[in-house]
Amino acid sequence: MRICGCVSSELWRRPGFTDRGLSVASVTVRVVMVTQAYRFALDPTPRQKQALCSHAGAARFAWNWGLDACRDRHDAEGKWWSGVELHRLWNQVKKTNPALGWWSENSKCVYQEAFRDLDRALRDFVRSRNGTREGRRLGFPRFKKRGRCRDSFRFGSGAMRCAGRTVTLPRLGTIATHESTRKLARRLGNGTARILSATVSRAAHRWFVSFTVQVDRTVPGRHARPGSAVGVDLGVKTLLTAVDDHGGVTEIAGPKALRAGLRKLQRLSKAHSRAQRGSANRAKAAGRLARHHARVANVRADALHKATTALAARYETVVVEDLNVTGMVANRRMARAVADQGFAAVRRMLKYKTGWNGGRLVVADRWFPSSKTCSGCGGRKPSLSLSERTFRCEACDLVLGRDVNAAINLRDLAASGAERRNACGGDARPGPAGQPPGKQEPGNRERGQDRDRRRASDGYPNSGYPYPLTFQVTVTS
Ligand SMILES: [Zn+2]
Repeated sequence: MRICGCVSSELWRRPGFTDRGLSVASVTVRVVMVTQAYRFALDPTPRQKQALCSHAGAARFAWNWGLDACRDRHDAEGKWWSGVELHRLWNQVKKTNPALGWWSENSKCVYQEAFRDLDRALRDFVRSRNGTREGRRLGFPRFKKRGRCRDSFRFGSGAMRCAGRTVTLPRLGTIATHESTRKLARRLGNGTARILSATVSRAAHRWFVSFTVQVDRTVPGRHARPGSAVGVDLGVKTLLTAVDDHGGVTEIAGPKALRAGLRKLQRLSKAHSRAQRGSANRAKAAGRLARHHARVANVRADALHKATTALAARYETVVVEDLNVTGMVANRRMARAVADQGFAAVRRMLKYKTGWNGGRLVVADRWFPSSKTCSGCGGRKPSLSLSERTFRCEACDLVLGRDVNAAINLRDLAASGAERRNACGGDARPGPAGQPPGKQEPGNRERGQDRDRRRASDGYPNSGYPYPLTFQVTVTS
């Protein structure tokens, strides 16, 4: 099961909270309303599998039918149908056109949701063209083709439940899940969660259901370790290098799932392209290739979830840099290594996980020179090539690993309060579940690399804290 989400609004505060056995006296606790997803792998029977495919086909048909209708109208009148209009039109046509008699084999929700998706796609296209939508430019929505597009459909209403190792969906009935649904079932039972919609999709050979759920989440008003901070440098060599406020250095290698599986990928791709088009062997080869891709994605997501959960639990303030991932992926020498690490996912996960722990995520400006600045004297190098793995300062003779130096600079950024931005790109404001960003107390902090070196050589990093990092910890002295 995978849980992802974002914080939407604060509900109320409550005193007296115990966090994972850590008794914290009179810590305020807030209950925030969070929209998050609970995703379960399904174990459908052959007949249920058929019904799932049928529903996915219906959603695809509705999208294509709606897109066709919109194009016709745009050619004639210069405007499109809205999602609601399409649904109304569909309801008229499906009864009068005998060729569409099969529609009732699938839930009516599926068609409606497909029209909604199309409506949104058309709106996004217009906004992207106007320049009012962020992100890369979107093209006009395209027709979906069986076997080419993602098999997916959504229920926006109706009976959606889960219990034990089953989920119940409209029209499809009760389907066994591959894993226990107790985490969501418990919340549904005690009334702290409400299912908004259910999206069913297929990834390689497996079907999944993802419930979009509104959850009342208990969030500590203050992090369990107030004042703790960590700077995180995302890299290609090591997935992330973290240096905390005590100078403890943690390096997480990252599974490099794709690179490890590259030879297998090559073999499977070759087998696929050599099989005769349209043959059963080609379909089998495609299945094997898709399963390999899905496994790589799972290994990567697992490592990222473990790393970000540990960071958010251990540190109140997590500082990362705003990397230009799109630009880095566009560089074909870097693309594979960067995409393999999943930088964007790291930031997205840290954003909501720090919120859930009563901490905050600080995103350094894209132009913050974390790698080029000396963490000892603050001097800045005019240039630093990517191949230089060791940072050498001419001014103060500091010699430090490139990533460690960058992580220290990022960590100190949290304390200095300069160039601070939140993950949404605005000025630093407390998120709904976040922490007011009040300046970290300077206290008895020593400056410079002497302290970092000393603490690191003392074996300081994991001393006494109840959440151990489960990764291999490399201490650089
Ligand atoms: Zn220096």
